[in-house]
Amino acid sequence: MPRLRIGHDSVAWTTVRSARARRIRIRVGPEGVIVTVPRGASAGEAEAFVAQKAAWIAGALERVTRWEAGRDAAAAQMVPAWEQGGAVPYRGGQLAFQVEPALGRRVRLREVVAEDEPAHVADSPAAHVARGPRSDADADADADADADAREEYLTDAPRLAIGVPAHLAEEARSAAVRDAVVRWLRARALYHVEAEAHSFGARLGRMPSVIRLGDQKSRWGSCATSGVVRVSWRLIMAPPEALAYVVAHEVAHLEAPHHGPAFWAAVARIHPAWADGKATLKAWERSGRAAAGRLL
Ligand SMILES: [Zn+2]
Repeated sequence: MPRLRIGHDSVAWTTVRSARARRIRIRVGPEGVIVTVPRGASAGEAEAFVAQKAAWIAGALERVTRWEAGRDAAAAQMVPAWEQGGAVPYRGGQLAFQVEPALGRRVRLREVVAEDEPAHVADSPAAHVARGPRSDADADADADADADAREEYLTDAPRLAIGVPAHLAEEARSAAVRDAVVRWLRARALYHVEAEAHSFGARLGRMPSVIRLGDQKSRWGSCATSGVVRVSWRLIMAPPEALAYVVAHEVAHLEAPHHGPAFWAAVARIHPAWADGKATLKAWERSGRAAAGRLL
């Protein structure tokens, strides 16, 4: 790997040969310094160009380092406190913790969604149908009840009820809560990944041999030639469209184990909204939330 001397530092750079490039290009990012060299240009020409741009490269490297430090600091702040008042990223939103004392020896989790509240069951459309003909006054009263129920539905964000055994000491408690929350997130991830994989697989006409949860740092999913599809459990923290896109992408690899036109045609066939999903995934990564999720 060629190196460039900047002050006292020596910076390595990578050369990428390109048939399409028209001139030498330098890109500086989290992956380092990458120099794209057109077919007609020599290694010597590339080296001379890099040397000429040394000051610009030094400035760009500094900006990347600052950006990475800022992103990591922001990510560290997004790691939840494993106690009442904490919240965990889930399906693109936040699931607030509702910690309550519990009997037994294990931490127990339950997702509380607004529809679970008895008030909403009573106000469901089915309940109205069962009531039969009504006077105008009744109808007005029901309309008010509906409005109240809807408002409560909108303001009552889903929560994660966490039953913590009373005998646990403070330090043991947050570790136990963390373990239980991560276990719960992984179980939800498997449920959604399997559901998406089955529906995309049915459309493709091929099913994965096995679906596994992965935890790779550098990729969200993979598909082996043996048909094993692996998807990072951390995508359960991303918006649902992002998870669906990654699953569709890996399932499409069952038909086309490359990223050529046949592969993208398969993706579009089984998941017409794939481009939106991909954009959602990229936006989630840029927001720093994906980095925060990796610290969980
Ligand atoms: Zn791929």
